[in-house]
Amino acid sequence: MPELPEVETVVRQLRTTVCFKTIEKVVIKDPKVISHSVKKGLPARIIDIMRRGKSIVFTLDTNSYLVAHLRMTGHFHYVPQGSKVNSYQKYLSGTFHLDDGSFFTFNEIRRFGGIKNVSAKELENTFSQLGYEPLAASFTFTLFDSLLQRFPSAVIKTKLMDQSLIAGIGNIYAQEALYRAGIDPRTQIEDINTSKREKLYQELRDVLTLAIERNGTTIQNFSHIDGKGEFQDLLSVYQKDRCPKSHPIRKINQSGRGTYYCPRCQR
Ligand SMILES: [Zn+2]
Repeated sequence: MPELPEVETVVRQLRTTVCFKTIEKVVIKDPKVISHSVKKGLPARIIDIMRRGKSIVFTLDTNSYLVAHLRMTGHFHYVPQGSKVNSYQKYLSGTFHLDDGSFFTFNEIRRFGGIKNVSAKELENTFSQLGYEPLAASFTFTLFDSLLQRFPSAVIKTKLMDQSLIAGIGNIYAQEALYRAGIDPRTQIEDINTSKREKLYQELRDVLTLAIERNGTTIQNFSHIDGKGEFQDLLSVYQKDRCPKSHPIRKINQSGRGTYYCPRCQR
């Protein structure tokens, strides 16, 4: 499932391909995925594209927003004017035609993701329960630590993935950050000392930043506009048999999700 780095990768590519263009027409093929509301107020110019957690937000000049969720398998294609490329037709949910003759599509295999048009008020409500952005300059260690300290008896991995505390971290990057910080994913927060919590904070931000530089992780079918992510080559524990120090990895189940960790490096 795409997490913060994968969604950020897509946002950066959408910015360079479709931002500042005008959506003239939307052809909806699957209204379960592309809400009819996206046709509201067209033509509409895209004046900004940003990420919040795992969501993509297009700001329109019509005082409304398009909110896109990739979920498991949603993805975008961008097709420049005159291009003969037709790979976008597979799992096509809808086509957004732009004023320069180019278009972009949203494609969804499993149909959990989607795009809808929302007002400023609805946008605010959508994100009101969402936690902090871990890569924001304002996300300091003091803030991170104060969030954790609210749940002394909670298991660390579960809280890293709690979207109401920190936005955008899922199963892969929680495990990778815990490996890098040398913390057993089952540890209760009250049992992690300050230097390890500081290390975790740093490693969390480092692993997310590094993954963005590598265009995210492609495990099953994440694809961004220009192809596949490459961070899977740098994973330490996720779906691995051995950690980077060649110790055997252990896989356990935590709240229904598989967790990989190294019992020797993480204690
Ligand atoms: Zn190890």
